[in-house]
Amino acid sequence: MEKQFNISSFYSGRITLRRTIQIIFLIITLLIGIKFYWFVAQLESGGAVNIGRPPGVEAFLPISALVSLKYFLFTGIFNRVHPSALVIFLIICSTALVFKKGFCSWICPFGLLSDVLADVHLYLFKKQIHLPRWMDLSLRGIKYAVAGFFIWSIFITMPVDAVGTFIHSPYNRFSDIKMLEFFTNISLTAFIVTLVLVFLSVIIPNFWCRYLCPYGALLGLLSFFSLGKIKRSSQNCINCKQCETVCPGKIQITKKININSLECSACLRCVQSCPQKNAIGFSLQGYPIDQKRIALVLSALFALGIITARQTGYWQNETSVQAYRQYILGKQMPWKTPKGIDPEKMKRMIEKMKKSSPG
Ligand code: SF4
Ligand code: SF4
Repeated sequence: MEKQFNISSFYSGRITLRRTIQIIFLIITLLIGIKFYWFVAQLESGGAVNIGRPPGVEAFLPISALVSLKYFLFTGIFNRVHPSALVIFLIICSTALVFKKGFCSWICPFGLLSDVLADVHLYLFKKQIHLPRWMDLSLRGIKYAVAGFFIWSIFITMPVDAVGTFIHSPYNRFSDIKMLEFFTNISLTAFIVTLVLVFLSVIIPNFWCRYLCPYGALLGLLSFFSLGKIKRSSQNCINCKQCETVCPGKIQITKKININSLECSACLRCVQSCPQKNAIGFSLQGYPIDQKRIALVLSALFALGIITARQTGYWQNETSVQAYRQYILGKQMPWKTPKGIDPEKMKRMIEKMKKSSPG
């Protein structure tokens, strides 16, 4: 159940560049959140609005992005209700095809929080506590079940015309406001659940990321097709298992040559901790990739995707400030269920989506 942990080796293997990139993306996320908060505050005040709505806020609307993806795949229409949600979703998915779950360990703010809580775990317990394998495997199934539920609900059971209706419904159109309220006006239940998750992440490192995050599950599945992966050299490896000791994915690295595990987040801790030259490294189709190149390419993918979306008009959403104001002031936009769609069925579907996620 418990594995002895050489804490000094973990800290000497700390990848500062990865942490720097994580912090940069955290700051960007916080700035977007603050700007959106002030945008909504100005709308609520009823006065002039001189702060623009930051499109990056749609990164927190993954359900809307999935629905938009289905609509795009079936109709060819890239909707402008939440275009940046889909743009960011596609960028994140593209990172998994190159750097495994690199998004989780290099960019995601929740990944950073998970890392910090894992450090607290090490500080408190001086060793890494592992769950029994059967329990670990069973719990890991939860995130795939949640991801599967969303994919099945949206891609299998939702008719395309219902998808179009949902996209343009007030529920989806103003889901960014609801998402903000989720954080600024957090319910007691949500607050307690958050505290429990933080506590569990201290007791069991990476609890949220490893067992519950459906986004991570989806990226893990996509990462199976990743062009880049960790490779171990059986000639140079001395089987010291230092790499396994620091691996947050708890991957049995020394039993493999190519690390195809869905849990690998390209964090490069294994590479940093390895005492042997050329025993392990991240390789992109045979080309060795160090942490500087990962940082550069990940940042470039985000920059390129966002610039392209801006230039082609698929970054800013179409909803006017006036519509936002009407919604906020309680005058909901008129919305009729289109012909051919059972209003009760549509209502039930939206209720189901509401229960599933704030976004
Ligand atoms: S195998 Fe290496 S890169 Fe992958 S998660 Fe483990 S330590 Fe990180
Ligand atoms: S890859 Fe490096 S750290 Fe891992 S067992 Fe081999 S020599 Fe040790």
